[in-house]
Amino acid sequence: MWRPLSAIVFLVAIVNPLAETRRLRLRSSDTLQLDDYLDYDGVMLYLDQLARTYPDRITLKDVGRTYQNRALKLAMISNGDGRLGKRVIFMDAALHAREWMTPVAALYTIYKLVVEFKENADLLADFDWHIMPLANPDGYEYSRKTNARWRNTRTPNVGDCMGTNLNRNFELGWGIGFPELKDPCDENYAGSAPFSEVEARTVRDIMHTLMKTQRGVMYLSLHTSLRSVIYPWVYDSTPVQNQEEHIEIAKFVADQIFQSTGTVIKKLPGTQVGGEFGGTSIDYAFYMGFPLSFTFEMSGMDHNHVDYRFFPPTSEIRRLADESWTGIRAFGKKAIEKYPPSRAIPQSEKHRPTKNSATRNWDLAPVVGTTTLLFVHFFKKFVSFKMCQN
Ligand SMILES: [Zn+2]
Repeated sequence: MWRPLSAIVFLVAIVNPLAETRRLRLRSSDTLQLDDYLDYDGVMLYLDQLARTYPDRITLKDVGRTYQNRALKLAMISNGDGRLGKRVIFMDAALHAREWMTPVAALYTIYKLVVEFKENADLLADFDWHIMPLANPDGYEYSRKTNARWRNTRTPNVGDCMGTNLNRNFELGWGIGFPELKDPCDENYAGSAPFSEVEARTVRDIMHTLMKTQRGVMYLSLHTSLRSVIYPWVYDSTPVQNQEEHIEIAKFVADQIFQSTGTVIKKLPGTQVGGEFGGTSIDYAFYMGFPLSFTFEMSGMDHNHVDYRFFPPTSEIRRLADESWTGIRAFGKKAIEKYPPSRAIPQSEKHRPTKNSATRNWDLAPVVGTTTLLFVHFFKKFVSFKMCQN
């Protein structure tokens, strides 16, 4: 009688401390490294680490493969209460390869929501967050290791040129705008067709899934370094139906950042950044039915207000990550406040532009008709300025 009991007590005495030691060992590397920029493997390693330690709060999903066969990962974060089908804030980073602070900010957000969960539990009570920290890993690796200023994918184009600008490759208004969008050697190249790039299709498919299940509330795309909050449309000057809501949120984000660090964040519709042009992810997300859709152009300035744009010195990473989190937290807080579960998500049809739109009949137009429409509008809206939006 005593022998089995003693054995159990003995085993518990041994196993418990072992489990505790393992947990402590795992948690010892929970802290995100903020003294240097991680490469692709480093980002994946950190995600795996968190998913092992906090399996109830973070689930990783392989959502696609890049042109160079790197895994595209989506981190799905919840509070672990087991409630399914919550509304979702969907955030991506590094659509533009050279914007090195954006994956940092995405990972830091994941860290805040998963590891520092208690302080941020309000952001996860009725919402999940789906975060893609590296939406363009091929381009990011090329930027980190070969040519820092690289912005695009690494898909070969006709001739000797490489890469498509993912933030010009989405379907809505694709190809509308300035001539460089059609130049396979330009960093604004919109691709050979809408969604020619697997990375853009992957982001699109995440959006579609979230809208089909009526879960998507806010799409937030991280960029640097214009210190701006940008809302749709980019391809059309018609104000979106809920522009006031977008402006209110943008103002809240800007105020929170200004109060915290003194950095001034501009608030503006996409057309005021670099003129009207098509193919952006925020326009597509809004068109597909996300009631809120933003680009957050984070700061690249150091503490002395020297602007390093895409490549702040590593000594500034921690400070800029904190500042970005202040903004991202503000976006989340306001989106949750505006769209509680009791408020229905409006149907996407209501958000379609009503005038001056190249794609008013997007769903109905046959391929030939759409192509003609795009062609006509391309010339109609042909402008000679050099597009500057990042
Ligand atoms: Zn950008």
